[in-house]
Amino acid sequence: MSLPDPANPTVFLVGAGPGNPGLLTLRAAEVLARADLILYDQLVPPRILDLANPAAEKVCVRDLPGQHPDKYPHIHQILIEKGRAGKTVVRLKGGDPLVFGRGGEEAEALRSAGVGYEIVPGVTAALAAGAFLEIPLTHRNYASAVAFVTGHELPNKTGNLLDWKALAVFPGTLCIYMGVARLPVIVAELLKHGKDPDTPAAIVERASTGDQRAVQTRLADLEDARRNAGLEAPGLIIIGDPVAHRPPHSWWEARPLFGRRVLVTRPAHQAGEMVRKLEHLGAVVYRMPAVEVREPADFGPVDLALDQIRRAEWDWVVFTSANGVHALLRRLDALGRDLRALGGVKLAAIGPKTADALREYRLRADVVPDATFSSEGLVAALRPHVGGTRVLLARANRGRDLLRDELGRVAAVEQVTVYDQVDSVAPGAGVLDHLRRGEIRYITLPSSRIAQNLLGAFDETIRDRVIRGEVQLVAISPETGKAVREMGYPVAAEAIEFTADGLIEAVVKLARRDAG
Ligand code: SAH
Repeated sequence: MSLPDPANPTVFLVGAGPGNPGLLTLRAAEVLARADLILYDQLVPPRILDLANPAAEKVCVRDLPGQHPDKYPHIHQILIEKGRAGKTVVRLKGGDPLVFGRGGEEAEALRSAGVGYEIVPGVTAALAAGAFLEIPLTHRNYASAVAFVTGHELPNKTGNLLDWKALAVFPGTLCIYMGVARLPVIVAELLKHGKDPDTPAAIVERASTGDQRAVQTRLADLEDARRNAGLEAPGLIIIGDPVAHRPPHSWWEARPLFGRRVLVTRPAHQAGEMVRKLEHLGAVVYRMPAVEVREPADFGPVDLALDQIRRAEWDWVVFTSANGVHALLRRLDALGRDLRALGGVKLAAIGPKTADALREYRLRADVVPDATFSSEGLVAALRPHVGGTRVLLARANRGRDLLRDELGRVAAVEQVTVYDQVDSVAPGAGVLDHLRRGEIRYITLPSSRIAQNLLGAFDETIRDRVIRGEVQLVAISPETGKAVREMGYPVAAEAIEFTADGLIEAVVKLARRDAG
Protein backbone atom coordinates (compact mmCIF):
# COMPACT_ATOMS: atom_id res chain seq x y z
CA MET A 1 0.00 0.00 0.00
CA SER A 2 1.40 3.40 -0.88
CA LEU A 3 1.40 6.13 1.71
CA PRO A 4 -1.43 8.65 1.45
CA ASP A 5 -0.27 11.95 0.03
CA PRO A 6 -2.09 14.75 1.84
CA ALA A 7 -1.20 17.17 -0.93
CA ASN A 8 -2.98 14.94 -3.45
CA PRO A 9 -6.22 13.78 -1.91
CA THR A 10 -8.13 11.27 -3.91
CA VAL A 11 -11.45 11.53 -2.11
CA PHE A 12 -13.44 14.73 -2.38
CA LEU A 13 -16.39 15.47 -0.13
CA VAL A 14 -18.22 17.89 -2.36
CA GLY A 15 -21.26 20.13 -1.92
CA ALA A 16 -23.46 20.12 -5.03
CA GLY A 17 -25.39 23.19 -3.92
CA PRO A 18 -29.17 23.51 -3.74
CA GLY A 19 -30.05 22.36 -7.25
CA ASN A 20 -29.31 25.20 -9.65
CA PRO A 21 -26.21 24.05 -11.57
CA GLY A 22 -24.93 27.63 -11.73
CA LEU A 23 -24.42 27.55 -7.98
CA LEU A 24 -21.85 24.79 -8.10
CA THR A 25 -18.40 26.04 -7.07
CA LEU A 26 -15.57 26.12 -9.60
CA ARG A 27 -13.68 23.62 -7.47
CA ALA A 28 -16.63 21.23 -7.44
CA ALA A 29 -16.92 21.44 -11.24
CA GLU A 30 -13.19 20.83 -11.55
CA VAL A 31 -13.14 17.66 -9.45
CA LEU A 32 -16.39 16.37 -11.00
CA ALA A 33 -14.80 16.71 -14.43
CA ARG A 34 -11.97 14.36 -13.49
CA ALA A 35 -13.73 11.94 -11.15
CA ASP A 36 -13.39 8.17 -11.65
CA LEU A 37 -16.24 7.43 -9.26
CA ILE A 38 -19.08 9.67 -8.12
CA LEU A 39 -21.05 8.51 -5.12
CA TYR A 40 -24.04 10.83 -4.91
CA ASP A 41 -26.98 11.39 -2.61
CA GLN A 42 -30.47 10.94 -3.89
CA LEU A 43 -31.22 14.66 -3.49
CA VAL A 44 -28.42 15.69 -5.85
CA PRO A 45 -30.12 17.03 -8.99
CA PRO A 46 -29.34 15.03 -12.16
CA ARG A 47 -28.30 18.23 -13.94
CA ILE A 48 -25.26 18.46 -11.70
CA LEU A 49 -24.17 15.01 -12.83
CA ASP A 50 -24.16 16.25 -16.44
CA LEU A 51 -21.07 18.23 -15.51
CA ALA A 52 -19.20 15.09 -14.52
CA ASN A 53 -16.55 13.22 -16.43
CA PRO A 54 -18.66 11.18 -18.90
CA ALA A 55 -16.46 8.16 -18.22
CA ALA A 56 -16.98 8.33 -14.45
CA GLU A 57 -18.86 5.55 -12.73
CA LYS A 58 -21.91 7.13 -11.06
CA VAL A 59 -23.51 5.44 -8.10
CA CYS A 60 -26.49 6.74 -6.15
CA VAL A 61 -26.28 5.82 -2.46
CA ARG A 62 -29.95 4.81 -2.74
CA ASP A 63 -28.78 1.83 -4.77
CA LEU A 64 -26.28 0.62 -2.18
CA PRO A 65 -27.39 -2.32 -0.04
CA GLY A 66 -29.02 -1.69 3.32
CA GLN A 67 -31.60 0.69 4.73
CA HIS A 68 -30.86 4.33 5.54
CA PRO A 69 -28.45 4.34 8.54
CA ASP A 70 -26.99 0.94 7.64
CA LYS A 71 -25.72 2.33 4.37
CA TYR A 72 -23.14 4.51 6.05
CA PRO A 73 -20.55 1.87 6.96
CA HIS A 74 -20.86 0.72 3.36
CA ILE A 75 -20.33 4.24 1.99
CA HIS A 76 -17.28 4.70 4.22
CA GLN A 77 -15.89 1.40 3.03
CA ILE A 78 -16.24 2.34 -0.64
CA LEU A 79 -14.63 5.74 -0.08
CA ILE A 80 -11.71 4.15 1.75
CA GLU A 81 -11.20 1.31 -0.71
CA LYS A 82 -11.39 3.43 -3.84
CA GLY A 83 -9.36 6.19 -2.22
CA ARG A 84 -6.63 3.71 -1.36
CA ALA A 85 -6.68 2.41 -4.91
CA GLY A 86 -5.77 5.95 -6.03
CA LYS A 87 -9.09 6.61 -7.75
CA THR A 88 -10.45 10.13 -7.84
CA VAL A 89 -13.62 9.69 -5.83
CA VAL A 90 -16.24 12.42 -5.50
CA ARG A 91 -18.70 12.03 -2.67
CA LEU A 92 -21.41 14.41 -3.83
CA LYS A 93 -24.04 15.77 -1.47
CA GLY A 94 -26.81 18.33 -1.80
CA GLY A 95 -26.05 21.80 -0.43
CA ASP A 96 -22.98 21.77 1.77
CA PRO A 97 -21.39 18.50 2.87
CA LEU A 98 -20.96 19.62 6.47
CA VAL A 99 -24.45 21.05 7.00
CA PHE A 100 -26.71 18.14 7.92
CA GLY A 101 -24.78 16.09 5.42
CA ARG A 102 -22.82 13.63 7.52
CA GLY A 103 -19.69 14.93 5.79
CA GLY A 104 -17.98 15.12 9.16
CA GLU A 105 -18.44 11.42 9.79
CA GLU A 106 -17.12 10.52 6.36
CA ALA A 107 -14.09 12.74 6.80
CA GLU A 108 -13.43 11.08 10.13
CA ALA A 109 -13.62 7.60 8.62
CA LEU A 110 -11.17 8.62 5.88
CA ARG A 111 -8.84 10.22 8.39
CA SER A 112 -8.73 7.11 10.58
CA ALA A 113 -8.05 5.00 7.51
CA GLY A 114 -5.24 7.31 6.43
CA VAL A 115 -6.86 8.21 3.12
CA GLY A 116 -6.31 11.76 1.91
CA TYR A 117 -9.38 13.91 1.32
CA GLU A 118 -10.52 17.41 0.50
CA ILE A 119 -13.77 19.10 1.49
CA VAL A 120 -15.39 21.36 -1.11
CA PRO A 121 -18.15 23.49 0.42
CA GLY A 122 -21.45 24.08 -1.33
CA VAL A 123 -24.26 26.63 -1.17
CA THR A 124 -26.47 25.33 1.61
CA ALA A 125 -30.25 25.33 1.27
CA ALA A 126 -30.79 28.20 3.69
CA LEU A 127 -28.51 30.54 1.73
CA ALA A 128 -30.14 29.55 -1.56
CA ALA A 129 -33.60 30.12 -0.08
CA GLY A 130 -32.51 33.52 1.17
CA ALA A 131 -31.22 34.60 -2.23
CA PHE A 132 -33.91 33.06 -4.45
CA LEU A 133 -36.87 34.12 -2.29
CA GLU A 134 -35.24 37.42 -1.35
CA ILE A 135 -35.39 36.87 2.37
CA PRO A 136 -32.40 38.54 4.00
CA LEU A 137 -31.43 35.96 6.62
CA THR A 138 -29.88 38.71 8.67
CA HIS A 139 -31.02 42.30 8.72
CA ARG A 140 -29.71 45.24 10.69
CA ASN A 141 -33.20 46.00 12.00
CA TYR A 142 -34.83 42.58 12.35
CA ALA A 143 -32.34 39.76 12.73
CA SER A 144 -28.86 39.76 14.22
CA ALA A 145 -28.27 36.01 13.99
CA VAL A 146 -29.20 32.95 11.93
CA ALA A 147 -29.60 29.41 13.20
CA PHE A 148 -29.45 26.28 11.05
CA VAL A 149 -31.64 23.78 12.84
CA THR A 150 -32.63 20.21 12.09
CA GLY A 151 -36.31 19.47 12.32
CA HIS A 152 -35.60 15.81 12.09
CA GLU A 153 -35.16 15.19 15.79
CA LEU A 154 -38.34 14.38 17.64
CA PRO A 155 -38.74 16.46 20.78
CA ASN A 156 -39.31 13.30 22.78
CA LYS A 157 -36.11 11.71 21.55
CA THR A 158 -33.80 11.30 24.52
CA GLY A 159 -30.21 12.42 24.41
CA ASN A 160 -29.90 14.78 21.47
CA LEU A 161 -32.75 17.01 22.52
CA LEU A 162 -33.17 20.26 20.61
CA ASP A 163 -33.54 23.12 23.03
CA TRP A 164 -36.87 24.53 21.84
CA LYS A 165 -36.92 27.01 24.67
CA ALA A 166 -33.65 28.53 23.45
CA LEU A 167 -34.84 28.43 19.86
CA ALA A 168 -38.10 30.19 20.78
CA VAL A 169 -36.16 33.15 22.18
CA PHE A 170 -33.32 33.00 19.62
CA PRO A 171 -32.72 36.61 18.52
CA GLY A 172 -32.71 35.98 14.78
CA THR A 173 -33.86 33.87 11.85
CA LEU A 174 -34.47 30.13 12.23
CA CYS A 175 -33.76 27.98 9.17
CA ILE A 176 -35.17 24.55 9.84
CA TYR A 177 -33.95 21.71 7.61
CA MET A 178 -35.79 18.41 7.26
CA GLY A 179 -38.70 19.76 9.25
CA VAL A 180 -41.68 19.78 6.87
CA ALA A 181 -42.97 16.35 7.85
CA ARG A 182 -42.93 17.38 11.51
CA LEU A 183 -44.11 20.92 11.03
CA PRO A 184 -47.06 20.74 13.49
CA VAL A 185 -44.77 19.55 16.28
CA ILE A 186 -42.16 22.20 15.51
CA VAL A 187 -44.70 25.02 15.50
CA ALA A 188 -46.33 23.72 18.70
CA GLU A 189 -42.97 23.55 20.49
CA LEU A 190 -42.00 27.07 19.49
CA LEU A 191 -45.39 28.50 20.50
CA LYS A 192 -45.34 26.58 23.78
CA HIS A 193 -42.05 28.22 24.64
CA GLY A 194 -43.30 31.68 23.97
CA LYS A 195 -42.56 32.39 20.31
CA ASP A 196 -44.99 35.01 18.97
CA PRO A 197 -47.67 33.25 16.84
CA ASP A 198 -47.56 36.24 14.48
CA THR A 199 -43.87 35.73 13.65
CA PRO A 200 -43.54 35.73 9.85
CA ALA A 201 -42.72 32.28 8.50
CA ALA A 202 -42.21 30.58 5.14
CA ILE A 203 -41.63 27.17 3.64
CA VAL A 204 -39.77 26.69 0.39
CA GLU A 205 -39.39 23.64 -1.78
CA ARG A 206 -36.57 23.21 -4.31
CA ALA A 207 -35.16 26.67 -3.74
CA SER A 208 -33.00 27.99 -6.62
CA THR A 209 -34.64 25.85 -9.33
CA GLY A 210 -37.48 26.50 -11.75
CA ASP A 211 -39.53 24.20 -9.53
CA GLN A 212 -39.14 26.47 -6.53
CA ARG A 213 -42.41 26.85 -4.62
CA ALA A 214 -43.02 28.76 -1.43
CA VAL A 215 -45.72 29.79 1.02
CA GLN A 216 -45.56 32.54 3.58
CA THR A 217 -47.79 33.35 6.52
CA ARG A 218 -47.72 33.75 10.34
CA LEU A 219 -46.07 31.00 12.33
CA ALA A 220 -49.34 29.79 13.85
CA ASP A 221 -50.87 29.26 10.37
CA LEU A 222 -47.87 27.68 8.68
CA GLU A 223 -49.14 24.09 8.63
CA ASP A 224 -52.50 25.14 7.14
CA ALA A 225 -50.77 27.22 4.50
CA ARG A 226 -48.46 24.34 3.68
CA ARG A 227 -51.33 21.90 3.28
CA ASN A 228 -53.38 24.30 1.14
CA ALA A 229 -50.45 24.89 -1.16
CA GLY A 230 -49.67 21.17 -1.29
CA LEU A 231 -46.03 21.62 -0.32
CA GLU A 232 -44.32 18.42 0.79
CA ALA A 233 -40.98 17.38 2.22
CA PRO A 234 -38.22 18.05 1.48
CA GLY A 235 -38.48 21.74 2.16
CA LEU A 236 -36.91 24.40 4.27
CA ILE A 237 -38.77 26.31 6.99
CA ILE A 238 -37.72 29.90 7.63
CA ILE A 239 -39.03 31.70 10.68
CA GLY A 240 -38.30 35.29 11.59
CA ASP A 241 -39.15 38.94 10.91
CA PRO A 242 -37.07 39.21 7.69
CA VAL A 243 -39.54 36.83 6.01
CA ALA A 244 -42.13 39.64 6.00
CA HIS A 245 -39.83 41.76 3.87
CA ARG A 246 -39.78 39.37 0.98
CA PRO A 247 -41.26 40.86 -2.23
CA PRO A 248 -44.36 39.12 -3.67
CA HIS A 249 -42.19 37.78 -6.49
CA SER A 250 -38.48 37.51 -6.00
CA TRP A 251 -36.12 38.44 -8.84
CA TRP A 252 -35.98 34.71 -9.61
CA GLU A 253 -39.72 34.11 -9.55
CA ALA A 254 -40.14 37.08 -11.87
CA ARG A 255 -37.99 35.48 -14.62
CA PRO A 256 -40.01 35.13 -17.83
CA LEU A 257 -39.92 31.33 -17.92
CA PHE A 258 -40.06 30.73 -14.17
CA GLY A 259 -41.63 27.31 -13.55
CA ARG A 260 -42.29 26.67 -17.29
CA ARG A 261 -41.49 23.20 -18.51
CA VAL A 262 -39.59 23.13 -21.77
CA LEU A 263 -38.27 20.21 -23.82
CA VAL A 264 -34.94 20.59 -25.63
CA THR A 265 -34.43 18.13 -28.46
CA ARG A 266 -31.05 19.17 -29.83
CA PRO A 267 -28.29 16.56 -30.00
CA ALA A 268 -26.71 16.09 -26.56
CA HIS A 269 -23.40 17.76 -27.42
CA GLN A 270 -25.18 20.88 -28.66
CA ALA A 271 -27.92 21.16 -26.07
CA GLY A 272 -25.81 22.60 -23.24
CA GLU A 273 -25.93 26.27 -24.08
CA MET A 274 -29.64 26.26 -24.87
CA VAL A 275 -30.41 24.38 -21.66
CA ARG A 276 -28.40 26.88 -19.62
CA LYS A 277 -30.07 29.86 -21.21
CA LEU A 278 -33.54 28.42 -20.59
CA GLU A 279 -32.62 27.63 -16.99
CA HIS A 280 -31.36 31.16 -16.44
CA LEU A 281 -34.77 32.34 -17.58
CA GLY A 282 -36.31 30.18 -14.83
CA ALA A 283 -37.46 27.20 -16.92
CA VAL A 284 -37.50 23.58 -15.85
CA VAL A 285 -35.73 21.92 -18.75
CA TYR A 286 -36.24 18.38 -19.98
CA ARG A 287 -33.96 16.91 -22.57
CA MET A 288 -34.42 14.29 -25.21
CA PRO A 289 -31.92 14.37 -28.04
CA ALA A 290 -33.95 13.40 -31.08
CA VAL A 291 -30.92 13.00 -33.33
CA GLU A 292 -27.30 12.19 -32.72
CA VAL A 293 -24.30 13.26 -34.71
CA ARG A 294 -21.73 10.64 -35.68
CA GLU A 295 -18.70 10.34 -37.87
CA PRO A 296 -19.62 9.60 -41.46
CA ALA A 297 -19.88 5.93 -42.33
CA ASP A 298 -17.20 6.49 -44.97
CA PHE A 299 -14.39 9.05 -44.70
CA GLY A 300 -13.22 8.35 -48.27
CA PRO A 301 -15.19 11.16 -49.92
CA VAL A 302 -14.28 13.60 -47.10
CA ASP A 303 -10.57 12.87 -47.48
CA LEU A 304 -10.85 13.26 -51.23
CA ALA A 305 -12.66 16.58 -50.82
CA LEU A 306 -9.97 17.85 -48.42
CA ASP A 307 -7.33 16.89 -50.98
CA GLN A 308 -9.20 18.71 -53.70
CA ILE A 309 -9.54 21.79 -51.52
CA ARG A 310 -5.79 21.76 -50.92
CA ARG A 311 -5.20 21.55 -54.64
CA ALA A 312 -7.54 24.54 -55.15
CA GLU A 313 -10.06 22.49 -57.08
CA TRP A 314 -12.93 24.16 -55.21
CA ASP A 315 -13.62 27.90 -55.04
CA TRP A 316 -16.17 27.71 -52.21
CA VAL A 317 -16.90 25.44 -49.29
CA VAL A 318 -20.40 25.96 -47.91
CA PHE A 319 -21.35 24.94 -44.37
CA THR A 320 -24.95 24.47 -43.33
CA SER A 321 -24.30 23.72 -39.66
CA ALA A 322 -21.73 24.06 -36.91
CA ASN A 323 -21.58 20.26 -36.89
CA GLY A 324 -20.36 20.34 -40.49
CA VAL A 325 -17.61 22.79 -39.63
CA HIS A 326 -16.38 20.72 -36.71
CA ALA A 327 -16.60 17.48 -38.67
CA LEU A 328 -14.51 18.74 -41.58
CA LEU A 329 -11.93 20.54 -39.44
CA ARG A 330 -11.54 17.59 -37.09
CA ARG A 331 -10.94 15.31 -40.03
CA LEU A 332 -8.30 17.69 -41.38
CA ASP A 333 -6.53 17.47 -38.03
CA ALA A 334 -6.87 13.69 -37.87
CA LEU A 335 -5.15 13.50 -41.25
CA GLY A 336 -2.19 15.33 -39.76
CA ARG A 337 -2.82 18.52 -41.75
CA ASP A 338 -3.72 22.03 -40.66
CA LEU A 339 -5.50 25.16 -41.86
CA ARG A 340 -2.93 25.80 -44.59
CA ALA A 341 -4.53 22.93 -46.46
CA LEU A 342 -7.62 25.10 -46.91
CA GLY A 343 -5.54 27.60 -48.86
CA GLY A 344 -7.52 30.28 -50.58
CA VAL A 345 -10.91 28.61 -50.66
CA LYS A 346 -13.83 30.87 -49.81
CA LEU A 347 -16.16 29.93 -46.99
CA ALA A 348 -19.90 30.40 -46.53
CA ALA A 349 -21.97 29.76 -43.39
CA ILE A 350 -25.73 29.41 -43.13
CA GLY A 351 -26.01 31.50 -39.97
CA PRO A 352 -24.22 33.09 -37.03
CA LYS A 353 -23.66 29.85 -35.09
CA THR A 354 -22.03 28.19 -38.07
CA ALA A 355 -19.88 31.28 -38.58
CA ASP A 356 -18.96 31.15 -34.87
CA ALA A 357 -17.86 27.53 -35.32
CA LEU A 358 -15.49 28.67 -38.09
CA ARG A 359 -14.18 31.42 -35.84
CA GLU A 360 -13.18 28.76 -33.31
CA TYR A 361 -10.59 27.73 -35.93
CA ARG A 362 -9.65 31.35 -36.68
CA LEU A 363 -11.54 31.16 -39.97
CA ARG A 364 -13.89 33.86 -41.17
CA ALA A 365 -16.93 33.13 -43.28
CA ASP A 366 -16.86 35.18 -46.48
CA VAL A 367 -20.63 35.03 -46.74
CA VAL A 368 -23.28 34.72 -44.02
CA PRO A 369 -26.92 35.62 -44.72
CA ASP A 370 -28.03 38.85 -43.02
CA ALA A 371 -31.32 37.77 -41.56
CA THR A 372 -32.70 34.54 -42.97
CA PHE A 373 -30.62 31.69 -41.56
CA SER A 374 -31.98 28.92 -43.77
CA SER A 375 -31.12 27.28 -47.08
CA GLU A 376 -33.28 29.89 -48.82
CA GLY A 377 -31.40 32.70 -47.09
CA LEU A 378 -28.06 31.17 -47.97
CA VAL A 379 -29.00 30.76 -51.65
CA ALA A 380 -29.99 34.41 -51.82
CA ALA A 381 -26.78 35.52 -50.11
CA LEU A 382 -24.49 33.28 -52.16
CA ARG A 383 -25.98 33.53 -55.64
CA PRO A 384 -24.35 36.88 -56.49
CA HIS A 385 -20.93 35.51 -55.54
CA VAL A 386 -20.73 32.02 -56.98
CA GLY A 387 -21.63 32.38 -60.66
CA GLY A 388 -19.36 30.14 -62.75
CA THR A 389 -17.41 28.86 -59.73
CA ARG A 390 -16.96 25.38 -58.20
CA VAL A 391 -18.92 24.99 -54.96
CA LEU A 392 -18.60 22.18 -52.42
CA LEU A 393 -21.42 21.70 -49.90
CA ALA A 394 -20.26 20.12 -46.61
CA ARG A 395 -23.35 18.55 -45.12
CA ALA A 396 -25.02 15.75 -43.17
CA ASN A 397 -25.91 12.37 -44.64
CA ARG A 398 -29.41 13.67 -45.14
CA GLY A 399 -31.10 16.98 -45.50
CA ARG A 400 -32.62 19.18 -48.13
CA ASP A 401 -31.26 19.40 -51.64
CA LEU A 402 -32.39 22.96 -52.13
CA LEU A 403 -28.89 24.42 -51.96
CA ARG A 404 -27.52 22.00 -54.53
CA ASP A 405 -30.46 22.51 -56.86
CA GLU A 406 -30.59 26.29 -56.62
CA LEU A 407 -26.86 27.02 -56.63
CA GLY A 408 -26.49 24.36 -59.32
CA ARG A 409 -28.22 26.73 -61.73
CA VAL A 410 -25.28 29.15 -61.62
CA ALA A 411 -22.30 27.10 -60.37
CA ALA A 412 -20.75 23.62 -60.50
CA VAL A 413 -21.99 22.14 -57.23
CA GLU A 414 -21.18 18.91 -55.39
CA GLN A 415 -22.09 17.68 -51.93
CA VAL A 416 -19.92 15.78 -49.50
CA THR A 417 -21.24 14.05 -46.41
CA VAL A 418 -19.00 15.15 -43.54
CA TYR A 419 -21.12 13.76 -40.69
CA ASP A 420 -24.04 11.41 -40.15
CA GLN A 421 -27.23 12.25 -38.35
CA VAL A 422 -28.83 9.28 -36.67
CA ASP A 423 -32.36 9.14 -35.26
CA SER A 424 -32.24 8.62 -31.54
CA VAL A 425 -35.69 8.76 -29.98
CA ALA A 426 -35.98 5.60 -27.94
CA PRO A 427 -39.65 4.55 -27.65
CA GLY A 428 -39.14 3.95 -23.92
CA ALA A 429 -37.72 7.43 -23.30
CA GLY A 430 -38.85 8.77 -19.91
CA VAL A 431 -39.56 12.15 -21.46
CA LEU A 432 -42.44 10.60 -23.42
CA ASP A 433 -44.02 9.70 -20.06
CA HIS A 434 -43.73 13.31 -18.94
CA LEU A 435 -45.41 14.35 -22.18
CA ARG A 436 -48.16 11.79 -21.69
CA ARG A 437 -48.85 13.11 -18.22
CA GLY A 438 -48.98 16.66 -19.53
CA GLU A 439 -45.98 17.77 -17.50
CA ILE A 440 -44.19 19.53 -20.33
CA ARG A 441 -45.66 22.67 -21.85
CA TYR A 442 -43.31 23.66 -24.68
CA ILE A 443 -41.41 21.49 -27.13
CA THR A 444 -38.63 23.21 -29.06
CA LEU A 445 -38.03 21.83 -32.54
CA PRO A 446 -34.69 22.95 -34.01
CA SER A 447 -34.98 21.13 -37.35
CA SER A 448 -37.48 19.38 -39.59
CA ARG A 449 -35.66 16.14 -39.08
CA ILE A 450 -35.89 16.35 -35.31
CA ALA A 451 -39.55 17.30 -35.57
CA GLN A 452 -40.36 14.30 -37.78
CA ASN A 453 -38.39 12.02 -35.57
CA LEU A 454 -39.90 13.18 -32.30
CA LEU A 455 -43.50 13.51 -33.47
CA GLY A 456 -43.18 10.08 -35.05
CA ALA A 457 -42.64 8.67 -31.55
CA PHE A 458 -45.82 10.25 -30.09
CA ASP A 459 -48.78 8.06 -29.16
CA GLU A 460 -52.48 9.02 -29.12
CA THR A 461 -52.33 10.51 -25.63
CA ILE A 462 -49.51 12.90 -26.46
CA ARG A 463 -51.06 13.67 -29.83
CA ASP A 464 -54.35 14.65 -28.18
CA ARG A 465 -52.56 16.94 -25.78
CA VAL A 466 -50.79 18.68 -28.65
CA ILE A 467 -54.02 19.02 -30.65
CA ARG A 468 -55.78 20.51 -27.60
CA GLY A 469 -52.90 22.97 -27.20
CA GLU A 470 -51.83 21.69 -23.79
CA VAL A 471 -48.46 20.82 -25.21
CA GLN A 472 -47.14 23.47 -27.60
CA LEU A 473 -44.79 22.91 -30.51
CA VAL A 474 -42.32 25.68 -31.25
CA ALA A 475 -40.56 25.48 -34.63
CA ILE A 476 -37.22 27.09 -35.46
CA SER A 477 -38.33 28.17 -38.95
CA PRO A 478 -41.24 28.11 -41.40
CA GLU A 479 -39.57 25.10 -42.99
CA THR A 480 -39.69 23.15 -39.73
CA GLY A 481 -43.21 24.46 -39.08
CA LYS A 482 -44.25 23.06 -42.43
CA ALA A 483 -42.79 19.65 -41.56
CA VAL A 484 -44.80 19.71 -38.31
CA ARG A 485 -48.06 20.61 -40.07
CA GLU A 486 -47.48 17.94 -42.69
CA MET A 487 -47.48 15.42 -39.85
CA GLY A 488 -50.89 16.73 -38.81
CA TYR A 489 -49.82 18.75 -35.79
CA PRO A 490 -50.46 22.42 -35.01
CA VAL A 491 -47.52 24.81 -34.61
CA ALA A 492 -47.87 27.15 -31.63
CA ALA A 493 -45.07 29.46 -32.75
CA GLU A 494 -42.24 29.82 -35.22
CA ALA A 495 -38.99 31.55 -34.35
CA ILE A 496 -38.35 34.88 -36.02
CA GLU A 497 -34.60 34.36 -36.06
CA PHE A 498 -33.82 30.77 -37.13
CA THR A 499 -31.42 30.00 -34.29
CA ALA A 500 -31.55 28.43 -30.83
CA ASP A 501 -31.85 31.93 -29.38
CA GLY A 502 -34.74 32.59 -31.75
CA LEU A 503 -36.43 29.43 -30.46
CA ILE A 504 -36.00 30.57 -26.86
CA GLU A 505 -37.44 33.96 -27.73
CA ALA A 506 -40.48 32.29 -29.27
CA VAL A 507 -41.00 30.25 -26.09
CA VAL A 508 -40.74 33.41 -23.97
CA LYS A 509 -43.41 35.07 -26.11
CA LEU A 510 -45.73 32.07 -25.76
CA ALA A 511 -45.17 32.02 -22.00
CA ARG A 512 -46.08 35.72 -21.79
CA ARG A 513 -49.26 35.00 -23.73
CA ASP A 514 -50.01 32.03 -21.44
CA ALA A 515 -49.59 34.27 -18.42
CA GLY A 516 -52.23 36.45 -20.04
N1 SAH B 1 -26.47 19.41 3.11
C1 SAH B 1 -27.73 19.99 2.71
C2 SAH B 1 -28.85 19.63 3.66
C3 SAH B 1 -29.19 18.17 3.65
S1 SAH B 1 -30.55 17.81 4.67
C4 SAH B 1 -27.56 21.50 2.59
O1 SAH B 1 -26.54 22.03 3.00
O2 SAH B 1 -28.46 22.16 2.07
C5 SAH B 1 -31.86 17.84 3.53
C6 SAH B 1 -32.74 19.05 3.78
O3 SAH B 1 -32.18 20.18 3.19
C7 SAH B 1 -34.13 18.94 3.18
O4 SAH B 1 -34.98 18.22 4.02
C8 SAH B 1 -34.51 20.39 3.10
O5 SAH B 1 -34.90 20.86 4.37
C9 SAH B 1 -33.20 21.07 2.79
N2 SAH B 1 -32.99 21.39 1.36
C10 SAH B 1 -31.98 20.94 0.58
N3 SAH B 1 -32.06 21.52 -0.65
C11 SAH B 1 -33.13 22.34 -0.63
C12 SAH B 1 -33.71 23.23 -1.57
N4 SAH B 1 -33.23 23.35 -2.81
N5 SAH B 1 -34.80 23.93 -1.20
C13 SAH B 1 -35.32 23.81 0.06
N6 SAH B 1 -34.80 22.99 0.97
C14 SAH B 1 -33.71 22.25 0.65
